[in-house]
Amino acid sequence: MEARLRRKVVEVSKRIYDRGLVAGAGGNVSARAPMSNEVLITPSGLCKGHLKPSQIVKVDLNGNVLKGKLRPTSEMPMHNEIYKLRKDVNAIVHTHAPVSTAFSCANVPLDYSIYPEAIVMIGEIPMVEYVTPTTRDLGAVVARYVGKHNALLLRSHGPVSMGTNLEQAYQRMELLEDFAKILLVSRILGGPQPLPEGEAQKLLGLESEKYRVELVKKPR
Ligand SMILES: [Zn+2]
Repeated sequence: MEARLRRKVVEVSKRIYDRGLVAGAGGNVSARAPMSNEVLITPSGLCKGHLKPSQIVKVDLNGNVLKGKLRPTSEMPMHNEIYKLRKDVNAIVHTHAPVSTAFSCANVPLDYSIYPEAIVMIGEIPMVEYVTPTTRDLGAVVARYVGKHNALLLRSHGPVSMGTNLEQAYQRMELLEDFAKILLVSRILGGPQPLPEGEAQKLLGLESEKYRVELVKKPR
């Protein structure tokens, strides 16, 4: 299980690098086995495009290094705070994806309500107030916003996505950045138009229906 998760952390790190969602050592990726208090997280200072499974650091939720010679990312406290508060979250992807990060620098929210795919796949994306990146304060402030959200936008810093597994967290990040591009272009074209009244609620209902069906299927 751990070896497979290590490989998946490496794979997702490479995907965010290859897709231009981070530059060099920027951003961080983590995962934990369901119900576990041990987290596999990317190391500090190494390029996301060329990591090896042995370089992924194993830590506990208090930030103690359990396995690995490298230092974990300095943004580890943010990951740990999310895992402590959200038992349903087993993977976190944080990037400095250029377009969504530009929205965060301009303090313009990503209004998910105008685009059906964002409503269904991500939901509301709160803007988290500015905190100096890499400080412990980041974890404490992010904790106030985590709630039931699947993604956050850190002011003047970048997006964070969460999922029940790494694939879901990655896909939410990819979609979030694409959504930021769509929003930007629609602003150039005269501004995004709201969906018909009641449509956002209907789409949210579709998602909860799908989730319910998945939950029913799982134990069999
Ligand atoms: Zn960051």
